[in-house]
Amino acid sequence: MSHASPVWHPFTQHAVQGDTPTIVHSEGAWLQADDGRRIFDAISSWWVVTHGHRHPTIISAIKQQSDQLDQIIFAGFTHPPAEQLAQRLVEITPPELTHVFFSDSGSTSVEVGLKMALGYWLHSGESRRRILALEGAYHGDTIGGMSVGERGVFNAPYDPLLFDVSRLPFPRAGAEQATLDALEQACRNEAVAALIVEPLVLGAGGMLIYPPWVLAEMARICKAHGLLLIADEVMTGWGRTGTLFACEQANVVPDIACYSKGLTGGSVPLAVTMCRREIFDAHFSTDRRKTFFHSSSYTANPIACAAALANLQVWASEPVRQRIDDLAAVHARALNRFRDDARFSNVRQIGTIAAVDLQVGDSGYLADVGPRLYAYFINRGLLVRPLGNTIYLMPPYCSTAVEIEAVYEAIAAVPEVLA
Ligand code: PLP
Repeated sequence: MSHASPVWHPFTQHAVQGDTPTIVHSEGAWLQADDGRRIFDAISSWWVVTHGHRHPTIISAIKQQSDQLDQIIFAGFTHPPAEQLAQRLVEITPPELTHVFFSDSGSTSVEVGLKMALGYWLHSGESRRRILALEGAYHGDTIGGMSVGERGVFNAPYDPLLFDVSRLPFPRAGAEQATLDALEQACRNEAVAALIVEPLVLGAGGMLIYPPWVLAEMARICKAHGLLLIADEVMTGWGRTGTLFACEQANVVPDIACYSKGLTGGSVPLAVTMCRREIFDAHFSTDRRKTFFHSSSYTANPIACAAALANLQVWASEPVRQRIDDLAAVHARALNRFRDDARFSNVRQIGTIAAVDLQVGDSGYLADVGPRLYAYFINRGLLVRPLGNTIYLMPPYCSTAVEIEAVYEAIAAVPEVLA
């Protein structure tokens, strides 16, 4: 049986996908379908919607900017929203991050970060070409992003396109030293250009959390051996882990940082890659071969930049940090009931992100339980998109305790319903 609509959805197996709600309206943490159903967005529509859908400040900025300037080539031209946004980003991030390169998705921000790192070493006259990454990582679905991501079901068919990287074991609790030793070893044996990490939590790899001291140690080793640290804060940024950026919790300033998702509060696509002055300077030359050869047609789209500026205004003018703390406290309370329940394991939380593993026979992204769980939640008006047997929540910061607790009630009932 073929699929009726011409639309081919991402990360969707159309042969088994059931009900696909048609969403026509959104407000706060809620989605509304054309058939009248209301669905609670417990994963912030793939982790992007931070303050809630259609935040009035952001929507109004988008409308205003649309009346002024919609799009302009960004090579050789600039515009006020991009200039103001870059300025504000430099102000709210560590002073060492001095330059801002725009792109339009988390994946492209990672590609840009990798290209910056390689360009930096080449233009500095050093033959460092090797990239290090963590096992289990996910950095997006472009070629560079897949190359530094875990090799497995997401990218196996595209293997001929991918470049080789060296991998460090994920710093599992109690085995963190093995990761640090592997990093030391790699630095001694290879001409390493950069280490790329998702700071403090591997997202699509299973919501796996590691402590700030490990990130701090990784940064220290990188510095000692002179390689660049790329922090992919695409998921962890914009308050998700409890602080504005995850690196703050480890007092780590990366050499290159990738931000997207919550950059516009989840309204329109935009990403930035920020870097230290030395990286920009290595590309700054009358030798035009040292130009940073990366662009996309919509680089620094003015409407998206205006949305991001409005997002920063929301951060500055509303009690966003308090909302994040409150949400984290709701998770912490609600998770307690799962700690002594043998049907669940690996109960974990970092800031607004919470996860539990359902104790079933199969695990991993393709575990059969994944689609069954998804259908179970959708039938209860909840958008929860488990990673195999890992059920996680990452709701918008405007979610109320009552709404979140209702999701936990549904999670608690899973083992009986699926039995
Ligand atoms: N990096 C990380 C850590 C991510 O979690 C994601 C997406 O989930 C990406 C990169 C890719 O971002 P995008 O889907 O916007 O390309």
